[in-house]
Amino acid sequence: MVKYRCGNCGRMIDIEDLEVLPGIRCSYCGHRVLYKIRSPTIKKIKAR
Ligand SMILES: [Zn+2]
Repeated sequence: MVKYRCGNCGRMIDIEDLEVLPGIRCSYCGHRVLYKIRSPTIKKIKAR
């Protein structure tokens, strides 16, 4: 699941909320700079 964080108010925004709006904006303060946040992927590493 991809989430964004507003560069102004720092709120977390789901990508589903962004798709509703015309263009990428913070739905709380209207700021245009959003940072993409990835959920940490879990990788299997073989231990030797
Ligand atoms: Zn904001």
